Amino acid sequence: MATFPTAPPVRHRLRPVVVPLVLLVVALVAAVGSRLVALPTSSSDAAAPVGDGELPDGTSVYDDRHAGVTELDPDLLRALRRAATAAVDDDVDIVVNSGWRSREYQQRLLDEAVATYGSRAEAARWVSTPDASPHVSGDAVDVGPAQAAAWLGSNGARYGLCRIYDNEPWHYELRPEAVDRGCPPRYPDPTHDPRNRR
Ligand SMILES: [Zn+2]
Repeated sequence: MATFPTAPPVRHRLRPVVVPLVLLVVALVAAVGSRLVALPTSSSDAAAPVGDGELPDGTSVYDDRHAGVTELDPDLLRALRRAATAAVDDDVDIVVNSGWRSREYQQRLLDEAVATYGSRAEAARWVSTPDASPHVSGDAVDVGPAQAAAWLGSNGARYGLCRIYDNEPWHYELRPEAVDRGCPPRYPDPTHDPRNRR
């Protein structure tokens, strides 16, 4: 201050310094505040669907919080929701055990199946590769519980929902022509599916 003995009143000299300081403080508070607010809610925030396709038990077909549901083909999801709504009239609650899966998640499931079944050939009867799996493309859904899968087996064709494999009563895909013509013949298991021979 000694260098400005004849400077204008204090009020005027302070202003150029005080204003940027105030702005800085406001900006800091805003930044810290938004981070404090963002951190605790980010994991439970419903804004963006999350996940690699792994779903919690009992996931509803209407659940928009999980990529495993929202990344399904829109026509398949629409058909599934219509069927689930109708199933309620029969006291049947259709849940999604698995829907869309990331390639990484599919590979993890395949690796686990190889460990479980002891060979790649036996695992292939249950879990497809990331290249072949209709789950990775969002074109397949595994429903539960068994009662719901059975309900879809009897009523799914009306919504274009068809069981594809004899050994997987829970696995359904969209076959729009089934509404008029019924579902196509099933494969004994995924190894008979031409998509798995690519
Ligand atoms: Zn499946």
